[in-house]
Amino acid sequence: MRVAIGGFVHEGNSFSSEIINLQKFEEFIYTKPEELVDRHRHDKRVLGGFIDYAEEKGWEILPLVTAFAVPAGPIEKETYELIKAQLCDPLKKEHADGILLHLHGAIVSEEISDCEGDILKTIRKAIGREIPIMTVHDLHANISQDMITTVNGIFGYNTQPHADQYEREYEAAALLDKVVQGTVKPYCTYEQPPLLLPAISTDTSIGAMKPIMEKAYQYEEEEGIINVSPFAGFYGSDTKNAGASAVVVAEEACKKRADEIAAEMAEYFWEQKESFFVQTVPVKQALELAKRTDGICAFIDEADDPMGGGPADGTYILQQLIQEGADSAALMTIYDSEFVALAFEAGEGNLVNGVLGGKTDQRHGESMEITGKVVKLHEGKLPLSCWNEADLQNPGKIAVVEHKGIHIVVTANKTCTEMINIFQYLDMDVMQYKILVGKGLGESYRMVYKDMVKEFLTIDSIGVTNPDVTKLGEFKEIRRPIYPLDKNVTYRGRG
Ligand SMILES: [Zn+2]
Repeated sequence: MRVAIGGFVHEGNSFSSEIINLQKFEEFIYTKPEELVDRHRHDKRVLGGFIDYAEEKGWEILPLVTAFAVPAGPIEKETYELIKAQLCDPLKKEHADGILLHLHGAIVSEEISDCEGDILKTIRKAIGREIPIMTVHDLHANISQDMITTVNGIFGYNTQPHADQYEREYEAAALLDKVVQGTVKPYCTYEQPPLLLPAISTDTSIGAMKPIMEKAYQYEEEEGIINVSPFAGFYGSDTKNAGASAVVVAEEACKKRADEIAAEMAEYFWEQKESFFVQTVPVKQALELAKRTDGICAFIDEADDPMGGGPADGTYILQQLIQEGADSAALMTIYDSEFVALAFEAGEGNLVNGVLGGKTDQRHGESMEITGKVVKLHEGKLPLSCWNEADLQNPGKIAVVEHKGIHIVVTANKTCTEMINIFQYLDMDVMQYKILVGKGLGESYRMVYKDMVKEFLTIDSIGVTNPDVTKLGEFKEIRRPIYPLDKNVTYRGRG
């Protein structure tokens, strides 16, 4: 048994001006075939589940490339074509009995909006209909018909924050095993409601995805139903198929039931839709509420979320805090290597003067000239997130600068803001502030700060990950009508 294993993971925000090149993959994960097995064996984030299953079974592995970059804008044409060729070309020349791929599901290139569909069609064309392909996708994947018709099984993450990539890969490999043995013939089907959901409420343990996942688990109990994956979709990709979907993998004998389940899951998304949208609060109103609150308030800036393609250098909320005279706040994080360099030149305890933030584009607040005291300088890697302290990220140098009573955490590299307790990590006493400002998903803040923070407020901010999807910009490719971009949308007779 010889199995091909590869991965391509990126979430492409069509509204972001940051075009992604090969260097961005090299900075995060870009593993050549010859290093793939050793580097990703037991890896919880990507390929570990595939490789471990294959090695336990004594399979021979045909390693393909693995490329993974932090979410941003579309991938540059040449880089996309290169990685696609590294995934597809070996399969044209070498035989594999089965193929296991970890693909995000929301990859967008400068030219192609459904990149996973494009890659899978190319592979299918090269290998014919007989060889099984199993894929694993992010919960925020935008599933297309081309993906469904080319693969034999699709497995979506069941968790947000994402924590079960390994288990889903292992499960996909186990199904591939059965298919190659001839004991299962899978049927894969899907259904998409006309629904574009923001990521902000997609947490699977406390958010809007929780009941949806529970319903999927119930269906998975049925005889012949192998896997049910509800996908929240990724709202920042302007692709025909962006948005929620439900994929069902079943034994071929249960085709009819699989189609019914996909339709019922899609209807359930539709029924639950309002639970995904949040009310945002203008900064001024949030400050008034903070004044009346006995305790700490968290202000969440979901509009500049680097995990959804935001540049992480937005200044919109900081500017408003200063304008409104807020004087006890800590803010994480602004990505600005030039400003960090100035702070390091000035040294701890000294004043730094420079232009901060707003350097990637004009959509997240303007650059601002500030003079502030360098409170802390830090060098060294950080855990990737509060729930994955084993994997590290490199934020580059970090400077904490105090400007008018606001402590601002500035990083030299664009940093994953799922490291929510970065304040504590930098030995900042969060109890001394009235307001904590963070970028990213509000539910994650709720989980991490539930014992410390009184009020969690999603701020009415600006940017390419705005939880108000109607403010993202002009969608050109997405199927219409779709809620909430269009009003009065009905689905199966219901409004
Ligand atoms: Zn995701």
